[in-house]
Amino acid sequence: MFEILQIPALSDNYIYIIIDKKTNKTACVDPAVSDAVLALLEKKKLKLNYIFNTHHHHDHIGGNLEIKKKTNCKILGPEKDLKRIPGIDIPLKNNDEFALGNINFKIFEVPGHTSGHICFYSENAKLLFCGDVLFSLGCGRVFEGTNNQMWSSLLKIRSLPDSTNVYCGHEYTKSNILFALSLDPENKKLLNKKNEVENLLRDGKFTIPFNLGKEKKLNPFLNSDNKNFQKMLGVSDYSSQRTFDYVRKKKDLF
Ligand code: ZN
Ligand code: FE
Repeated sequence: MFEILQIPALSDNYIYIIIDKKTNKTACVDPAVSDAVLALLEKKKLKLNYIFNTHHHHDHIGGNLEIKKKTNCKILGPEKDLKRIPGIDIPLKNNDEFALGNINFKIFEVPGHTSGHICFYSENAKLLFCGDVLFSLGCGRVFEGTNNQMWSSLLKIRSLPDSTNVYCGHEYTKSNILFALSLDPENKKLLNKKNEVENLLRDGKFTIPFNLGKEKKLNPFLNSDNKNFQKMLGVSDYSSQRTFDYVRKKKDLF
């Protein structure tokens, strides 16, 4: 049993606090800021044990040092970003494992958005914290890596079980849906999803987390090797990589 608290921060970031109920071990994922995290810990009478960082961007690590100072927590982050992320105590690389109480996490390196980006996957808790690699109906911009790395990283995530609940770094779902619909305007499932998302947002709710199985069907980036999708885009002769490049470029210009 576990609980996840979700804190909206900055303009569209999400910070997560995950608590293993049996042991009370607690971790904060990608603290963009410190004050909202410290206030919630105080309110819930929680002791923070760890910070998990997915990548070095400021909107994912901004709260690191202040939170560490106040809570004495240990910081876990990508080994490749030791020099760029302040305060890392436990450097992580591909296939490392880490237990938060009874929740077992496996670390995957998922370069593309940044070269050192990692995600935290738990098979037993059906959880994925993927930072800025996969978003609902979208994927991260390719800043440091190559499109080739990003497509490989998305394939790695796509290979995880459909039942996985994905906790990403940003609330980008609305604009991502508008982009997906610009490619495939008649898609009933996308139109339904748009309604669903608009209702959630209108009620002040979050569209994150999302189900990976549904995402595999709807996310244009995850369908770069889908023949029907390629046909609809008019790029039947493209490889999956070239299709990914094409969709990513279109999104960058959208
Ligand atoms: Zn980022
Ligand atoms: Fe971000």
